[in-house]
Amino acid sequence: MDIKKVLNQLGITENNSGTSTGQQWMESDAKVITSSSPVDGKEIAKVSTTSAEDYEKVISTSAGAFLFWRNVPAPKRGEIVRQLGEALRLNKENLGILVSYEMGKSLQEGLGEVQEMIDICDFAVGLSRQLYGLTMHSERPDHRMYEQWHPMGIVGVISAFNFPVAVWSWNTALALVCGNVCVWKPSSKTPLCAVACQHIIASVLKANDMPEGISALITGNPVGDLINNDPRIPLVSFTGSTRVGRLVSSAVAGRFGRTILELGGNNAIIVSKDADLDIAIIGAAFGAVGTAGQRCTSTRRLIIQEDIYEDFKNKLVKAYGQLRIGDPLDQHNHVGPLIDKAAVAVYLEAIEKGKAQGANFIVEGGVLEGGAYGSGCYVKPCIAEVKNHYQIVQEETFAPILYVMSYKTLEEAIALQNGVPQGLSSAIMTLNLREAELFLSTNGSDCGIANVNIGTSGAEIGGAFGGEKETGGGRESGSDAWKGYMRRQTNTINYANKLPLAQGIKFDL
Ligand code: NAD
Repeated sequence: MDIKKVLNQLGITENNSGTSTGQQWMESDAKVITSSSPVDGKEIAKVSTTSAEDYEKVISTSAGAFLFWRNVPAPKRGEIVRQLGEALRLNKENLGILVSYEMGKSLQEGLGEVQEMIDICDFAVGLSRQLYGLTMHSERPDHRMYEQWHPMGIVGVISAFNFPVAVWSWNTALALVCGNVCVWKPSSKTPLCAVACQHIIASVLKANDMPEGISALITGNPVGDLINNDPRIPLVSFTGSTRVGRLVSSAVAGRFGRTILELGGNNAIIVSKDADLDIAIIGAAFGAVGTAGQRCTSTRRLIIQEDIYEDFKNKLVKAYGQLRIGDPLDQHNHVGPLIDKAAVAVYLEAIEKGKAQGANFIVEGGVLEGGAYGSGCYVKPCIAEVKNHYQIVQEETFAPILYVMSYKTLEEAIALQNGVPQGLSSAIMTLNLREAELFLSTNGSDCGIANVNIGTSGAEIGGAFGGEKETGGGRESGSDAWKGYMRRQTNTINYANKLPLAQGIKFDL
């Protein structure tokens, strides 16, 4: 694979600016980020971060662009997003390779991520003709009531490293058709993916003769804080850890801004004795080791019915024995590297903490070294028998560590599944209708996502995506998640020749 050619075709050079209002890129003396690949440890390219001065230029340009963009009819905005989808189709292969090389996920998952971008553009195009409000019957004669949805202004999108392109598109495609403009601050661990996306959207906006500021890029951690505290940004869509999400949430709430929070998960699969065990093994293994356990929806816990516990555990250990770990661009491998050495240290620390708290590792972890593992970021997926209340099990460790535990009754299993601070994704493997329905009922899973006979990881863009509790409560992507990007206005119109007051209140002069 010729990475240089891929970079070149995506507009990435040795030294890139990380600040753009669209087609215009700004250079500053602010800190430079060097992006290195966790695949082979090699430096890919450099990206300069955004200075406070350039941040001001970006935000004022975006504020100006909003005054224009909000007056472009929504279906016309949709047409531009349709063209973005087309541009992504043309760049799918290259962008998928870059995602895989810069972030470390498998090429299949990198391409899948770009496909998700294309899918959300398609969804947003249809949505651009369906930003429906309701009409209501007024209690007063000769009155009409309805609600309409207006754009909010600048949407700040702060994204995590593990979905370096899809999260941006989930937010941007929807926010744009809703009439907002976007300013994106990507993870400093994957800045090149962001630079590539900015080139792609800028070419589409240019082809349509659009002004600067409709979709902008800023880079570097300090500008995250500027976004949080900037009253010119009415909505901040934040995807990342619960720790940082808490900071963002309180800062934005402090100025009465709005947030969409997509934070950490601690996702479990319940494996019933009535499960199709072949499906359950694949679902559990892919969920736990896919993206090297670095998905917010990765399977972290397996809650297994006691009658099949030993059998299922043995099958799982056997399946782990077949995993191939290595270069994610080689399609024969199942598991790629962690994002960086700091993530490896967190993984090792979690294993040590787990052991100290009583975890019994039935598949041992460890760091792979030498040869193809020279980047120092490749680790062994591992499995530990635990109790749900162990502190380490209650936390999200962003690595391929799978915790297993047993249960007697489904009620107990649901209590274990819900018995963590996070509430993102959950699943049950069962062919028993009663069990499936109980799991999905009000007495069942407390997560934003609850699946039957599908693992916890991976989601289609058609549904609203997000989770409860410490996952933050936000929803993105499909269904009516678009409402989170607009402000609702209730309108009451009196076409009578008098002024009756609501609730029959009399006020005569
Ligand atoms: P992170 O919290 O370390 O960083 C996320 C983003 O926040 C980055 O862009 C970072 O630069 C920025 N940031 C850091 N400090 C900031 C501040 N003070 N103000 C504003 N922004 C700041 O997360 P990460 O390690 O990149 O990603 C992994 C985490 O993201 C995991 O917890 C994972 O579960 C979560 N995640 C959640 C979802 C979801 O949809 N629920 C999706 C993907 C990832």
